[in-house]
Order: sequence, then C-alpha cells, then structure tokens
Amino acid sequence: MKVLVAGAGIGGLCLAHGLLGAGVDVRVLEREDDPHSRYQGFRIALNEHGLAALRACLPERLHTLLEAVTGPMAGERLVLDQRLRELRRLGAVDEGVATDRHVLRQLLLAGLGDRVEFGKPVVGYEERADGTVEAHLGDGGSAVGDLLVGADGVGSAVRRRLLPAAEVVTVPGNAVLGRTPLTERFAALVPGFGTVVHGSGVSMLLGRMEFRRPPRRAAAELAPDVRLPDTGSYLRWVVMLPGPVPAEPEGWEAVHGELLALLDGWHPDLVDLVRGADVVNSSPLTVRYAKPVPHWGSTRRVTLLGDAIHPMPPSGGQGANTALRDAALLTRSLAAVQRGEAELRSAVEEYERRMLDYGFAAVAESMERLPDFTPTR
Ligand SMILES: Cc1cc2nc3c(=O)[nH]c(=O)nc-3n(C[C@H](O)[C@H](O)[C@H](O)COP(=O)(O)OP(=O)(O)OC[C@H]3O[C@@H](n4cnc5c(N)ncnc54)[C@H](O)[C@@H]3O)c2cc1C
Repeated sequence: MKVLVAGAGIGGLCLAHGLLGAGVDVRVLEREDDPHSRYQGFRIALNEHGLAALRACLPERLHTLLEAVTGPMAGERLVLDQRLRELRRLGAVDEGVATDRHVLRQLLLAGLGDRVEFGKPVVGYEERADGTVEAHLGDGGSAVGDLLVGADGVGSAVRRRLLPAAEVVTVPGNAVLGRTPLTERFAALVPGFGTVVHGSGVSMLLGRMEFRRPPRRAAAELAPDVRLPDTGSYLRWVVMLPGPVPAEPEGWEAVHGELLALLDGWHPDLVDLVRGADVVNSSPLTVRYAKPVPHWGSTRRVTLLGDAIHPMPPSGGQGANTALRDAALLTRSLAAVQRGEAELRSAVEEYERRMLDYGFAAVAESMERLPDFTPTR
C-alpha cells in the first residue's frame, strides 16, 4: 500500500513515522521549500493523547530524545492585573509537558530522509478509475497512491476539494505571539502552569518553555544522527487584543512599536518582556476554528487529519495533540489494512467517524475556554 501525505507538519510527520513502522510505503509532500522556511517556533503543550501518539508512532530510539526536549508544565494558573497584582487563581493542573513546535518538527523529520519532499504543494487531486488517487502538485507534477491524507493545516487544499462547504471561521479580535529568552526575572512571572494578565482592553498569556536539556546538545548525546536546532529556553507570550492588530503587519517593527504603546503603564517586567522579544519568532496571530462537519457519507481514497479538518483556537492546548491522536489512530487503521486484516475503505471510514467525534469535541472545548483569554474593554 502506498500513502501520500500532503503536509509535513506535526500530524503529517507523526503519521509518516507510524506508517513506515507498519511497513507502509509513504511519501510526504510539503509546500514549504525547506524545513526552516517559516516562523514556527512556539511552545506546544503535549497532553496524554499527544504523548501517547508520539510514542506509538516514533521509533523507540527517539523516545529518550523526545523526553529530553520537553519541559515541565504543571502547577497553579494565576490571573494577574497589569501591575502584577493577583486577581484570582484558576487552580493547579498537571496536564503534560511543554515542547517547542520547531524542535518537535525537526525531531519528527529524523529518519524520514527523502520520503519528505519540500517545495511540493498539493493543489488538487483526482480519484482514478483504477481505484488509486493522483495528487496534483504546484510544480505541475503529480504523485499516485492508494490513499491521500490531507495533513496540510488550517488552509488545507485537500479539504477545499473534498469538503468545499466546510467552514473555517476567523475569531474576531487579534493576537500577537512572541517569545523572549528565559531569565530568572521573567521565569518568576510564571511560577506554575501558566499566567494570564488582564489589562484594560488587552490581555496577555504567559507560558514557560524550559527544556530539560538544550535540544542540540541532547540530540548530539542521545541520537547523534539527529540534528536539532540550537533553541534556548524562553517565555512564550500572547497578547490578545479586542480589535485588529493596530498597525498593518508590514513588519515586526511596526507591530512591536504599537504593542509597546498599548502596554503603557504596565509593570516593567511585562513591558521589558515584550521589548526583549526574539524577533524571528514573534508575529501577529490569526485565531481560527472549524464549524463541525458530519461524515461525508462515502469514504473515498482521500481523508483528512489535524488542522486540515478540525482547526481550533490555541486556548484549549489541543490542536497539535488532536492532530497527533489522529495520526496514531490512522496508523492503527492502515496497519491493519497492510497486514491484510481490514479493507482500506472501511478502515478509513472507521478512522474518520472516530476522529470527527473527538476532533470536534476538542474544537468545542477550545471555543468554550476562549473567553478566559479574551480581553474585556
Ligand atoms: C500560538 C499557538 C499555540 C499553540 N499551542 C498549542 C498547544 O499548546 N497544544 C496543542 O495541542 N496545540 C497548540 N497549537 C495548535 C497546533 O500548533 C496545531 O493544531 C498543529 O500544529 C496542527 O498540526 P497539523 O499537522 O494538523 O498542521 P500544521 O502543523 O499546520 O502543518 C501543516 C503543514 O502542511 C503544509 N501545507 C500547507 N498547505 C499545503 C499544501 N497545499 N500542500 C502541501 N503542504 C501544505 C504546511 O506548510 C505545514 O507544514 C497552538 C497553535 C498556535 C498558533
């Protein structure tokens, strides 16, 4: 069996590992020109579903390295005002570990070699009379397989073709996402799981990304063939604004200047946190979510996974975890087909029905939690 995966993001790469482990031939087609060509270094909280999926799909030799490049994420969730006075406590949680999307993606690329092809956007597909599917690529080429998995994120070209009526909605208001190298002073802002700061008309979410071991060094020691980026620990912050980002995001300088103006009168630790932003990894952020879609009836040679089908706001910390859960579930379904124990169409349909169920439940939960993070005027 040959599976084509559109998108080398978190979900697509996890699936590729799982399928290779099950003996399935897999080819990943990625739009970006190379693995570093886009800003993507934000913190991701991995919960039990995400971690279990990664462990199920990644080869065992990478498990220790995965553990080494995570960081603790537990304790009290504080709500403070802009002068850092405590407003309330949301209670302690211990829900998993933190990792960095860019580091995780580099780890997920390990061992996949030329099975991942960069500069190959999937722009459409055709289901062929012989029961195979042909993915059309932006460079004019094509690829043929038994199944095409759209793991191509929130703007999915595969979803647009498969489910043209599926709606993805942009949440009103806007956000700026940034990160600043972790120092003792900034670490004190997040003593536990996370901190929310409510100012008038603006709120700020703070989370710590403190790697157990520096990623590059950990890779050199634990899996020398894997090269991880030299990313230092940082404090991740998201500034939520009630309206659009004040300046057109022509460049970080304009956004940064406007953001600092909005924080006038805020505690100096918060102002300096934003002032010290790592420019390459800070940018405006659009928050989107999908309206639920029922199962599309007849299963085809095409399916979807992760943000391509159920994008959700980051407020629930579930987007990547759900994409990884999809990858592990689809791996199990397709492994049974590979072993000759199941038929492809019914295995894919079973995956889709379960994925739609928990995927859209996660969207709903994330939407419910969004007001906790949204500023009041
Ligand atoms: C600020 C922020 C914080 C977050 N925090 C968390 C968190 O704590 N926990 C959590 O679980 N989730 C979190 N998320 C959500 C999480 O990042 C996403 O849900 C997750 O990355 C989705 O994975 P994916 O593989 O479906 O899509 P993506 O990771 O978006 O990957 C899609 C890939 O497809 C490629 N692509 C796009 N179009 C095409 C095409 N036409 N052809 C080929 N390739 C294409 C893209 O370049 C990309 O590489 C957060 C998101 C943000 C923005």
